[in-house]
Formats: sequence, C-alpha cells, structure tokens
Amino acid sequence: MNKHKKDKIAIVTGGGSGIGLAITEKFIREGITTVIIGRDEKNLNRAKEKLGEHCYPLRGDLSDLASIPELVNTIIKQFGRIDILVNNAGINHKKDFTEVTDEEFQQVINTNLTAVFVMSREVTRHMLLQGSGSIIHISSMAAQYGLPKVIAYSASKTAIDGMTRAMAVELSPKGIRVNAIAPGFIVTAMTDAALNADPERKNKVFSRTPMGYMGTPDDIAEAAFFLAGDSSKYITGVVLPVDGGNSIGF
Ligand code: NAP
Repeated sequence: MNKHKKDKIAIVTGGGSGIGLAITEKFIREGITTVIIGRDEKNLNRAKEKLGEHCYPLRGDLSDLASIPELVNTIIKQFGRIDILVNNAGINHKKDFTEVTDEEFQQVINTNLTAVFVMSREVTRHMLLQGSGSIIHISSMAAQYGLPKVIAYSASKTAIDGMTRAMAVELSPKGIRVNAIAPGFIVTAMTDAALNADPERKNKVFSRTPMGYMGTPDDIAEAAFFLAGDSSKYITGVVLPVDGGNSIGF
C-alpha cells in the first residue's frame, strides 16, 4: 500500500533533468504532488509534459540566494504546505586544483551548499509550523573519499554530510527528519560520455564497485522515496550510499 497520503507536497530542486527527474517521476507515480525548480524553462516544461498535472515547474536560479524566500512563499501560497524537500540541484567543475579561481570555487559552493542551506531554512520554517517534514540532501561519493580535480565539489558535498547531521539533531525533536543520499557512479548522459572517453577511469570505477555495474537515476529515486515517507520514520541523520558497494569496495 502507498504509505504517502495523496495530498503530500514535495519540492525537488533540479527536478527537470537527470537524478532529480527520476525522483520526481517516482514521487508523482506514488501520488505526491511535486514542484520542480530549475533555471532552464525548456527542461522544466519537458518534464511537465511527460509527468502531467501533479508536476509543477517553477523557474528559479538557486544561486541567487536572495530569491529563495520568494520561491518558497510562492509554493506555500499555492499549496499551503511542504512535506518533502529534496535538495538535488548541483553543479561541478572539473579542473586541476591550482587552476581553480576564487570565483569558480565560490560558484560551486554557492549552488551546492549555501543554496541548500537557504532553501532548507526557508522550508523548515513552514515544516516547523506543520510539526512534520522530511528533508533529503543529495550528496556524493566525493564526500566519502578523495577524488582528484573536483576540489570545490568535494568541499561542498562533504559540508552537506555535516549539515545533514547538524540539521538532524536540531530538527528531529520537532518532527523533521533530515537525511542524505550519496549516489555512487550513476549512468547519465554526462557520466556515460566522460567514462567512455577515459578507459582508465572507467576501469577504476568498475574495479572498486563490488556489484560490477553503474547505478541508474531510478536507483536513487527509490532511495529518495523511502527516505521521504513513513517507511523510514525512525531514520534521521544518515548519509545513505546508493553505490553498488563503491564506498566500501577495495
Ligand atoms: P544534472 O542532470 O546536471 O542535474 C542538475 C540539476 O540541477 C539540473 O536540473 C539543473 O537545472 C539544476 N541546477 C543546477 N544549478 C541550478 C541553479 N543554480 N538553480 C536551479 N537549479 C539548478 O545532474 P545529475 O547527475 O542529475 O545530478 C543531480 C545531483 O546528484 C547533483 O547534486 C549531483 O551532485 C548529484 N550526484 C550525481 C551523480 C551522478 O553520477 N550523476 C553522482 C553523485 C552525486 P537547470 O540547469 O535547469 O538549472
């Protein structure tokens, strides 16, 4: 039986593509009305066309921190509540450590970390009034072990794991659970092209993934649905690897 009530409202940032789109599809299939936020209107509209009336696209640039309270207010005005927040939107720059500029570093931190904080703070204010909610951050393997050439991304995702625990201890007594998912190597158009162009890296990925194959966005969506609803009602403060064993592979 569906453990989610029909009238639950979710926000999935970056829900117009990749992992966020798979999470949105799963939520809508399970009867959760889902607001997706992104900068690219075409992506958002394509998702809306595919997913139908329970998908609500909202254009917004989360790196513009000052715009976030208004985005959240728009959602509250329309739906009256927010039950689930998935902080999925993220960016990455691959570059040698010494070549990364201050601006590039800050840009990644701003989108992947500071915007997640501001979004969570604004949504939490409403969840506190409701006395319930589930917040899920999308972290990364880059927070579990050292990866070269992704310094800002690694810093941002490691901070997300710390923020998950800090938010969980403060908010769980008030009915809001906070967890993170750490996807391993997930097949998307981008990872596919990157790995096929770099056989050595591809070999490394597979050699330390005990299950021997890459995951799909749907694997992350299943975990997000589990963490969003009552099936995980006694789980808070965890960073759940969904990675075919990559984080413990030797
Ligand atoms: P993706 O397809 O590039 O999706 C990123 C999403 O974030 C896009 O929908 C993008 O929408 C949105 N976004 C980026 N900057 C934004 C901004 N300033 N404001 C609003 N939306 C913004 O990448 P993905 O692979 O699905 O990644 C999703 C999450 O999973 C990220 O947090 C990533 O770090 C994490 N992750 C992915 C993998 C993997 O193997 N794919 C592994 C570990 C972790 P717009 O461009 O329309 O703004």
